[in-house]
Amino acid sequence: MTDNAEKQDSDWKKALSPEQYRVLRQHGTEPAGSSPLNREKRAGIYHCAGCGAELFDSSTKYESGSGWPSFYAPRAEDAVATSTDRTLGMTRIEVHCAKCGGHLGHVFPDGPEPTGQRFCMNGTALAFEPKTSG
Ligand code: FE
Repeated sequence: MTDNAEKQDSDWKKALSPEQYRVLRQHGTEPAGSSPLNREKRAGIYHCAGCGAELFDSSTKYESGSGWPSFYAPRAEDAVATSTDRTLGMTRIEVHCAKCGGHLGHVFPDGPEPTGQRFCMNGTALAFEPKTSG
């Protein structure tokens, strides 16, 4: 058994869809408005599509109008990690899964209260699990 964090590139390529691989493992960005999760309003948990880690809770999801699923906070502070991304002539803060390192999106300081942060996520990097009663 190989731990998620130790997966080789070829393993990820096999495990993920081409679009998920492009986003999670190659720092890609899905087209704005393309994710069905933009319209997801149910209560539940957003997992990493790569390793299954619990990343975001529906209670922090909001409509940012950006075309990407947006949250004002991760489910737990250590669920995600950040790094500086200086590609495309911009300086942005990249967000990745703390467990598998998969690229999720970016975080911007223009979100709503209480954090003022906007976690701008690629929907294809997330797997939504609706909350079940009981
Ligand atoms: Fe992950």
